[in-house]
Amino acid sequence: MAARARRAADLPDLDGAIGGCFACPRLVAWREEVARTKRAAFRDQEYWGRPVPGLGVSDARIAILGLAPAAHGGNRTGRIFTGDRSGDVLFAALHRAGLANQPTSLARDDGLTLRATRIFSAVRCAPPDNKPTPGERDTCAPWLHRELDLIRPTLRVVVALGAFAWAAWWPALHAVYGVRPPSPRPAFGHGAHWSGTAVPEVLGCYHVSQQNTFTGRLTPQMLDEVFTRAKQVAGVD
Ligand code: SF4
Repeated sequence: MAARARRAADLPDLDGAIGGCFACPRLVAWREEVARTKRAAFRDQEYWGRPVPGLGVSDARIAILGLAPAAHGGNRTGRIFTGDRSGDVLFAALHRAGLANQPTSLARDDGLTLRATRIFSAVRCAPPDNKPTPGERDTCAPWLHRELDLIRPTLRVVVALGAFAWAAWWPALHAVYGVRPPSPRPAFGHGAHWSGTAVPEVLGCYHVSQQNTFTGRLTPQMLDEVFTRAKQVAGVD
């Protein structure tokens, strides 16, 4: 699977290869079980039930790195952050920032397009309780690393949504850019910022989970500040 990731010639090739991955037995079983049993509200829909590839442009200057698809969001619709409350919050913010053409992300054919931005997750299959194991994170890492490699020519900033994504960046920094991560690793926090030489800058942002947005830990204004900063770093108007 790592060899297949390295061979991916471009993003469509990578997206297709990711869609056929069965490398993590626990996650394969879970994504398929969720797709079979469904949530009552979606019982008439056919779930995607497979790995969820990245979304956005191939010349992205801004990357948004999440944790993993949601069981009834991306794992249902087949598009990352699509069809759940987390996506509602994220795409509303991207639309306010001028990085998405519409404020909602409901289905793969809803007409959504991104500007200068690509969104993907550290783990490409929905995990039980939104908690991949360290082994699953490491197994999935070659997909992330190849995706970063393919957008490397234009990529200027990575927005890490949550501590899991923040932690996934450092091995990627080494694998993709050949740069030894700082030691100790910079601590995650909302507004955390790291920059190196000739590598993308990294911004920390609380995850757009309901746990954070419903409690006010992450507000729309806080997201606006992060994306304003990301656009400045990336040189996006
Ligand atoms: S989590 Fe990643 S490596 Fe594991 S089965 Fe899904 S796509 Fe493959």
